Amino acid sequence: MSQATATKKPVKTNAKGKGGAPGKGAELLAHPIFDELGFQTDPNNLYRQTVSCMLQAADLMNLPHQLKIVLAQPKNEIMVNFPVRMDDGEFRLFKGYRVQHNNALGPYKGGLRFHHDVHLDDVKSLAFLMTMKCSLVGVPFGGGKGGIKVDPYKHSKGEMERIVRRFTTAIAHQIGPDYDIPAPDVGSNAQHMAWIADTYSFLSEVGGHQPEAVITGKPVEFGGSLGREKATGQGVVDTLTEMLPEIGVDMKGCKVSILGYGNVGSWTGRILQDRGAKIIAVMDHTGGIANDNGIDAHSLALHCSKLGGVGGYKNADKIDKDEFYQTRVDVFVPCALEQMIQEPEARMLNCKVVAEGANAPTTPAGERVLESRGIEVLPAILCNAGGVTVSYFEWVQNKTCQSWDLDQVDAQLNKHMVRAAAKVREARKKYKCGLRTAAYIGALERLRAAYELRGIFP
Ligand code: GLU
Repeated sequence: MSQATATKKPVKTNAKGKGGAPGKGAELLAHPIFDELGFQTDPNNLYRQTVSCMLQAADLMNLPHQLKIVLAQPKNEIMVNFPVRMDDGEFRLFKGYRVQHNNALGPYKGGLRFHHDVHLDDVKSLAFLMTMKCSLVGVPFGGGKGGIKVDPYKHSKGEMERIVRRFTTAIAHQIGPDYDIPAPDVGSNAQHMAWIADTYSFLSEVGGHQPEAVITGKPVEFGGSLGREKATGQGVVDTLTEMLPEIGVDMKGCKVSILGYGNVGSWTGRILQDRGAKIIAVMDHTGGIANDNGIDAHSLALHCSKLGGVGGYKNADKIDKDEFYQTRVDVFVPCALEQMIQEPEARMLNCKVVAEGANAPTTPAGERVLESRGIEVLPAILCNAGGVTVSYFEWVQNKTCQSWDLDQVDAQLNKHMVRAAAKVREARKKYKCGLRTAAYIGALERLRAAYELRGIFP
């Protein structure tokens, strides 16, 4: 897998760009639940932003108060510090996380992020989004997320193996094939998943069960599923195929720009190109490139896997950040990190649709600008749910000792994506709201139904 994404963008301290009194953004993010639960007051806090979108939807559909407070906080927040021997013989201490947000619909599920700048609040937000995503797309999982504060590209293979195995040991009692099932995310890959599955198998005493079902996104040779590697990109394209006609965009010949060319960006680009779209601008942490006649998505993916980013790609012009955002396209696909589309980027964007391949790429302030400019946003909990959906298929295959062929995986994935898109459309019509709120309503309806039947113990 090539190196993912761009560097995280610092968020302004408040809507006016200075510290001190919160600006307009803060008022819009106000909610009594935040005071009740003692949330961080910073309007730029990712967790506050993410939960505020859910609460808007919850208010609109009259979700009971007890569900609002249960869903506004994760069930468990696990932090571990563990020492690992480096190649030079010295020990370094690493910090790891696993946040288990909610398991009302099934085992906690969600990826592991390996990034030098990962924090508890990021992991909490991403775990929360997994609960919503799994519910919306109709898989029997709850939401979780984890990570290690580490730059995986700065360590030898041996060091990474020791870091990953030691982290697995530190959280082994908190995960399990029927309890919490991690997967890849930014910076982690199938090899890392294989080490986790192997370490967990040694540590677990589950006898006849399939211990490798503790994790998904494994290599196909060791319990992985065909189609998992490209699944998130495939889901983005399935969502676009469903939603573009009503926005009046034809996929054949449509122009696309992509932010981040790691797993999600590069697979989205390749599949879109194979369906007749033209990728004309790409940017990641190594720079921006553009070519109005089209950038070959396949050869760019090869370039990135060799050189770690799009920088230096021959058959395109070098562009700067502003030129990238201003490139006139039909579809813009952010596939990098959170909070990258803030007000300035939203003002520069020259597109009809934003298809969120990344988790939480658009800030509430950025989204307001997009909305005022008539740009449609396909929200992440719908658009990037393909990864976890095929993770579910991998888990089913592990549990039942089956191996599905690619056609079966793709067909089942498409069914889930089409159904989820239909749910979002119905909610938008019924509640007369934007697509993000509609997606949350679709997710919350299933959670509400489950809680009504289960009750809250005791
Ligand atoms: N990390 C991916 C996501 O954010 C996949 C999670 C999974 O497969 O469990 O959706």
